[in-house]
Amino acid sequence: MTTQTTTPTLVHTREELAAALAVQDVQAVPRTEGQAGTAHTARPYRRAVVMTMGALHAGHLSLVARARELADAVVVTIFVNPLQFSPSEDLSRYPRDLHRDLALLSGPGLLGPDDVVFAPGPEVVYPDGDPIVRVSAGSIGDVLEGVSRPGHLDGVLTVVLKLMHLTRPEVALFGAKDAQQLAAVRRMVRDLDAPVTVVGAPIVRDEDGIALSSRNAYLSDDERRRALGLSRALHARGTADEIRAGARRAMRETEVDYVGLVDPVTFAEVPADFVGEALLLVAATVGTTRLIDNAVVQVGV
Ligand code: AMP
Repeated sequence: MTTQTTTPTLVHTREELAAALAVQDVQAVPRTEGQAGTAHTARPYRRAVVMTMGALHAGHLSLVARARELADAVVVTIFVNPLQFSPSEDLSRYPRDLHRDLALLSGPGLLGPDDVVFAPGPEVVYPDGDPIVRVSAGSIGDVLEGVSRPGHLDGVLTVVLKLMHLTRPEVALFGAKDAQQLAAVRRMVRDLDAPVTVVGAPIVRDEDGIALSSRNAYLSDDERRRALGLSRALHARGTADEIRAGARRAMRETEVDYVGLVDPVTFAEVPADFVGEALLLVAATVGTTRLIDNAVVQVGV
């Protein structure tokens, strides 16, 4: 069923999506290649996509607001992708509330009736069942998240490429919250020549510093207090080894999964005598909830 009101156009199937994109295509303001904006629009792109798993919060909405600024038409996808969850993970309990998500997306400065929310089921995205051919994250998928969640980044990249093909955006926005995912998507687009510009957006945090995440909804009050250790860990300073140790100390009330201090492009760990900018990434479980966070830090200064 296609709904067209003052809220964005909600579509569930490939056919509905194609029809909604055709409407956007007809309305698009023509641009010559490489031209950033015209007399009719100051926006550099025709269509932007923001891919999410729903249970939206201000972090997701910041991406949508940026998409709105960058493109005439916006598509938000809401799909809890089974391919990126291992059997022991939270696929079945992952929060889902499409009505709430739609209301949030209709907020000021976000989506209007010509924008599209694509909320397919797994049978729409994977009509033949689990895909035989998949995208591999390569060496970026072998470290940090890749060690803790084998195959996770391959599952992410596979659905990201599929959703790029299905939604045909000129620009796609991803949050720095999932820094390894953002790096892998950038690399995929370069290595496989996907005709999409990738734009990263900064992490949105609560007042207490905790990075917004749909999984924060699982936390009890006490678990939330302990979870603050992740964002506090990102304040560690000193040499590479001092930063790694300081980050672990800050997370002592959590079950630390990893602390990584890496080159932001290759994700290789920086050596003990490294001086300069690196990416500090942390992952930990609090209760039964696995959380991640990261920040760029100055090492050895
Ligand atoms: P998810 O629904 O968790 O798959 O996230 C969808 C997109 O929102 C991804 O690009 C995430 O990196 C981004 N995102 C999630 N949380 C935040 C946050 N706190 N700040 C900025 N972006 C976020």
